[in-house]
Amino acid sequence: MRDPEVLGLRAARRLRPTGERPDVRALAAQAGVEVVERQVPPPAQPRLRSQYQPDPPRIILYRNPIDELAEAASARERLSTAECDLYEVHIAHELFHHLERAERLGPLAAAEAEEAAHAFARGLLGLDFDPRELSGAGR
Ligand SMILES: [Zn+2]
Repeated sequence: MRDPEVLGLRAARRLRPTGERPDVRALAAQAGVEVVERQVPPPAQPRLRSQYQPDPPRIILYRNPIDELAEAASARERLSTAECDLYEVHIAHELFHHLERAERLGPLAAAEAEEAAHAFARGLLGLDFDPRELSGAGR
């Protein structure tokens, strides 16, 4: 029985050999993944904050929804975003989807992949909250 959370945390630990928080943008570059930012998500997915496209490997960050989330999250004490760059959180999450594909982790069902990606972001960045909490922080 595969545990997606354990899978995500293990993958994160492999990328933190010294235990220190890595530079996720550098990790993405090393993995051959381009990170691009766009202001507005596609009209069909107005709440989309980020996505991974495999061919060629690319992580797209959508500034408007991420910035809105940062504002909503900073208003809640539980989520101190002072030490947490939401752009990095989203890059880390999408980087898992790249590793999932490139390293053939899984196969994971969609819900399992999301759980693993959240655990990966938490483990990689040493977050003291579960990134899933952010989903409820926006509107
Ligand atoms: Zn995901």
